[in-house]
Amino acid sequence: MSANYTNPETVVLHTGHRSDDVTGAVAVPIYQTTSFQFNDTQHAENLFALKELGNIYTRIMNPTQDTLEQRVAALEGGVAGLALSSGQSASMFAVMNLCRAGDNFVSSTDLYGGTWNLFANTMKDFGVECRFVDPSDPESFRKATDDKTRCYYAETLPNPKLNVFPIKEVADIGREIGVPLIMDNTAAPVICRPLDHGAAVVMYSTTKYIGGHGTSIGGLLVDGGNFDWEAHGDRFPTLNQPDASYHGAVWTEAVKPLGPIAYILRARVILLRDVGAATTPFNAFQTIQGLETLPLRMREHCANAEKVVDYLNGHDKIENVIFPGLQDGEPRRRADTYLNGTYGALVGFELKGGKEAGRKFIDSLQMLYHVANIGDARSLAIHPASTTHSQLSADEQEQTGVTDGYIRLSIGIEHIDDIIADLDQALAQA
Ligand code: PLP
Repeated sequence: MSANYTNPETVVLHTGHRSDDVTGAVAVPIYQTTSFQFNDTQHAENLFALKELGNIYTRIMNPTQDTLEQRVAALEGGVAGLALSSGQSASMFAVMNLCRAGDNFVSSTDLYGGTWNLFANTMKDFGVECRFVDPSDPESFRKATDDKTRCYYAETLPNPKLNVFPIKEVADIGREIGVPLIMDNTAAPVICRPLDHGAAVVMYSTTKYIGGHGTSIGGLLVDGGNFDWEAHGDRFPTLNQPDASYHGAVWTEAVKPLGPIAYILRARVILLRDVGAATTPFNAFQTIQGLETLPLRMREHCANAEKVVDYLNGHDKIENVIFPGLQDGEPRRRADTYLNGTYGALVGFELKGGKEAGRKFIDSLQMLYHVANIGDARSLAIHPASTTHSQLSADEQEQTGVTDGYIRLSIGIEHIDDIIADLDQALAQA
């Protein structure tokens, strides 16, 4: 048993696991097993009929995953979580839990490239249309909505532009029409809780800050339990109509004894059961190790990022520094509203010397890693024009906010003097 903690620093250490019932182990054990012995036939029948929730088979649930799910759900102020094999599977599940062929959803254009591909191409091949809209205008979500629109989707702190998404503004529009907002909060755990601002579901790539040590790919969904799926019955057939693949269960009805978990229960017992994008107990364990120090690390990440920005701003080889704390007008207001007094730990800058200077800068780094990742405890850098965005045309690059001399930094938790010293010597070469 564990108490109902709400402070993030305590939640990540204590929610969902006190000690192992049999051995007393304090660290969350790795339950490396495929299957779980039933007490008797009645117990087995109850579990399959969802009269009782419990472990059956690790593709569907597992006690190590369960602790991770409970902790992230509590951190977000949600009712339940679902750990998955990657952030990509989490974004896929988030949308496909509500959409069937012929349906559509509306997404911000400011997305991680992998999510963009999934939404624009793979989902389209599945018969689900993604309508991309400009996130600087919340009303664009309303305009793109019709009777077949099942959800809205956006990232809290999307790079490279680092314009914070208008969470409450779009969530409010959605709630007026009856459309839930799903937020990818990968770049802003702890510093932003999208459910507090009206989002219905939070999605994570735990690969980044939550895992924090760059060891394990993972994804996670949190159900806010705050969206009335039944009030908009026709819009959500997957939750309100009999499900042929589970003896005609109507999920909003079936969960009544269990709480407002229709969305996440269906994602588990239908999508995870059928698609099988389960994370492993070992990766869940690794992610828990990261999660246990997440609030502490986020403070260091964000404080270091501010100091890096102070150093970069005004450097004679730099045209422009991109950071929410340097913005003004509406983007700055959103950063101040949603990031809880911080500006995150992603920093962009444009080198005056363009592509050549960008390459030289990256090739000169000695401590910062040159990798296509963010959110590691180590500081990371990439030159998008020659890597992640190299397949885009010059026009497309500009639309996404990538210029020839743009460098993306993910600031880690090393000593600030060492981070700045490495940037300084690499800039001298650029
Ligand atoms: N969402 C964001 C914001 C990301 O940065 C990433 C990965 O870079 C993903 C989703 C996909 O996550 P994963 O790589 O864990 O599949």
